Amino acid sequence: MIKFAFEILKPTTIMKNIIVSLLAISTLWACSQSSNKEGESAKEESQEVNVYTHRHYESDQQLFKDFEEKTGIKVNVVSANADELIQKMTLEGENSPADVLITVDAGRLHRAKEAGLLQSVESETLNNTISSNLRDVDNQWFGLTIRGRAIVYNPEKISAEKISSYESLANPEIEGRLLIRSSSNIYNQSLMASIIAHNGKEAATEWANGMVKNMARDPKGGDRDQIKAVYAGEGDVAVSNTYYLGKMLNSSSEEEVKVAEAVKILFPNQDGRGTHINVSGAGVAKYAPNKENAVKFIEFLVSEEAQKVFAGVNYEYPVNEKVEWAPTLKEWGDFKRDTLNLSVLGENNDLAVKTFDRAGWK
Ligand code: FE
Repeated sequence: MIKFAFEILKPTTIMKNIIVSLLAISTLWACSQSSNKEGESAKEESQEVNVYTHRHYESDQQLFKDFEEKTGIKVNVVSANADELIQKMTLEGENSPADVLITVDAGRLHRAKEAGLLQSVESETLNNTISSNLRDVDNQWFGLTIRGRAIVYNPEKISAEKISSYESLANPEIEGRLLIRSSSNIYNQSLMASIIAHNGKEAATEWANGMVKNMARDPKGGDRDQIKAVYAGEGDVAVSNTYYLGKMLNSSSEEEVKVAEAVKILFPNQDGRGTHINVSGAGVAKYAPNKENAVKFIEFLVSEEAQKVFAGVNYEYPVNEKVEWAPTLKEWGDFKRDTLNLSVLGENNDLAVKTFDRAGWK
């Protein structure tokens, strides 16, 4: 009986073993397939980062290439102005392919944050490299490069002492001599937001009224056009971001160099709060499909290697303090910077726009 059972069981056991073995093999195969798949999809994720950017500088193209070569992560770029990109991300919602949003003003980064388009990022590298006033209080965006809003003037027509602060530009003495772009421009809105933060609403309104009275002409053109108008004698003093003058001084156009060399730059409010600064910066998109790559990408942009490119090509001040400034910026010398947290620029933006409107600043 036992023998019979053995005889009967034997082939069954063999078959069982075969079945078990087959199952094991197929399970292993399935596992290996699925882990391959996971590997593949992880690989896919790690191979690209989708960047929505408002920056339109050559330096950036070079940096994106450097990042690709270094990491093997492909950088896909969508370029448009910040408002368009913010609108695009809003419409795309959860399906947005955007991983990183880059804009050229803290006010716009704040707008993206308020619209729920960004997410908080915990990165030691970013926290240690970027001083806290140059990044969002919730780490939803990070400054990449710094620009000052400087005063550019004709030294033959006006003395530096008379125009040593933003406030002084609103003095009656400057009547008919001031060149500054339109109030629809975010750089001016952020400047106004900082003035509201430091001097209060009423003083800011008075300042805007004084500025409008002093304008040599209705606002038109960009910062460079204001500098050119100083040279042309349309006014004596202009407001411009630092890198525009830096670019003109290093321009391939002789005419631009001639204009830039004829004017002088001055960093306002050195005896007080310091010169108003702003950043171009980046944040990780709320629904970033490649979040890890997005963080890696932003970390790369603040590395010494990348910051050197920003500093050298675009005449901006690096956020990474280990990186040397461009020779032109060194020649201008160091200056006291306003340390206001740049988040405030965004928070005060609405009020800034209203204040401009009330003053009739076109
Ligand atoms: Fe600009």
